[in-house]
Amino acid sequence: MNEKQREYHKLYYREYRKRDEWKKYKSTYNAIRYDRIKTDVFNHYGRECVFCGERRFNKLSIDHPNDDGGEHRRSLKIGGGGINFYIWLIENNFPQGFQTLCISCNSRKNALWMWKTGKWVKKQPKCLKMHPEQLGAVL
Ligand SMILES: [Zn+2]
Repeated sequence: MNEKQREYHKLYYREYRKRDEWKKYKSTYNAIRYDRIKTDVFNHYGRECVFCGERRFNKLSIDHPNDDGGEHRRSLKIGGGGINFYIWLIENNFPQGFQTLCISCNSRKNALWMWKTGKWVKKQPKCLKMHPEQLGAVL
């Protein structure tokens, strides 16, 4: 390939990338890649929410049991979690202590559960005065 051809190719692909097909291809490719990474992670940590049994894939997330998920991710410098967090889990051979939670349980978890001596225990919120069985019904 001579210099002129090289230049031509460069320009051609520069234009090509701007086209919708390229954009569509790229987003499909990323979606497939993202899906595969997520599947790997949830095959390891479980494909349903450990609290409520939610199985819809797009509702699942990986939860850090020590309630310091944000702190942890910041310390890994992989900001924002998401795909980079999943890749981190895979690269680190699925470290222990993470679990599958659906998005809604994840947001309710901190209020009602805590990670203690290697397992999940229900908090007994004094203000709520609820029986543990009732707490189970809430989740
Ligand atoms: Zn759930």
